[in-house]
Amino acid sequence: MTAKILNGKEIAKSKRADIKVKVDSLKKKGIIPGLAVILVGEDSASQTYVRSKQKACQTAGIHSVLIELPESTSEQQLLTEIERLNQDQSIDGILVQLPLPTQISEYAILEKITPHKDVDGFHPSNIGKLVIGERGFIPCTPYGILEMLRASEVHIEGKHVVVVGRSNIVGKPVGQLLLNEHATVTYCHSKTENLEMITSQADILIVAVGRARFIKATAVKKGAVVIDVGINRVQEQLVGDVDFHEVKEVASYITPVPGGVGPMTITMLLENTVQSASRRELWSC
Ligand code: NDP
Repeated sequence: MTAKILNGKEIAKSKRADIKVKVDSLKKKGIIPGLAVILVGEDSASQTYVRSKQKACQTAGIHSVLIELPESTSEQQLLTEIERLNQDQSIDGILVQLPLPTQISEYAILEKITPHKDVDGFHPSNIGKLVIGERGFIPCTPYGILEMLRASEVHIEGKHVVVVGRSNIVGKPVGQLLLNEHATVTYCHSKTENLEMITSQADILIVAVGRARFIKATAVKKGAVVIDVGINRVQEQLVGDVDFHEVKEVASYITPVPGGVGPMTITMLLENTVQSASRRELWSC
């Protein structure tokens, strides 16, 4: 068996066209969706991510503002900047690029962003809404995975989803999101015993670990849907957490790296920003 490719790039392209239509419609009503991205320090991977986000905004017609702050920025200075953006009526979404320098508490910063501009979906209020199944901003990578599964008509209800990784930005929220879609969800992490025994029971296997080609074919059930979130640089090449060449022979669907989850993540950031701007439209009525 050779798996079908879940082509995130293609799905993202089609979703971005829909988003552009929504942006144009808001603009006709005098609303220009605005996203502020804050980058602290000079981490080169973060700079690359921020550039991609800005380029995507530009293509979609979303007004984007980049605020670059030095590595030495204090927590208080960053909190003050966020408060300014919280009050800025031209900004619908605020994103703080992670990771932050060690002198700044990530939690304090994410909590400062007003929940209705939290387009990354990391504010405790939005995470809480996800857990209780209420409407709020959904973190972009999990949201992108869900949209990709939907676009490919992968059946989720009743299926056994195994998530490897329990980070607050990917692992935990993607499991919760698919639980809300009525999957049966198992989480694995670095302390999990008999990992392969568990992953090989998954109908849908989601891997967000950050280790190159960590999941081998022996860890995957025949016919499983495999979503590879990982981005690892190996000899100047980007590879996922899944050994793509081995696993594609076992899985029914698989995401490539690059061109899988990554483009969907940025797309859902645009979607969340437009959703936020649409609320501005409701308030002005
Ligand atoms: P984190 O480092 O925050 O979390 C990694 C998780 O993997 C942890 O829960 C950790 O367990 C678990 N883990 C580590 N080693 C093992 C192991 N040997 N067996 C089982 N579990 C293990 O990473 P992120 O969630 O932030 O990111 C994961 C990957 O996804 C990275 O490569 C990142 O670059 C990529 N990424 C890609 C995105 C995209 O858009 N495509 C977006 C965000 C991230 P424990 O909790 O016990 O330490």
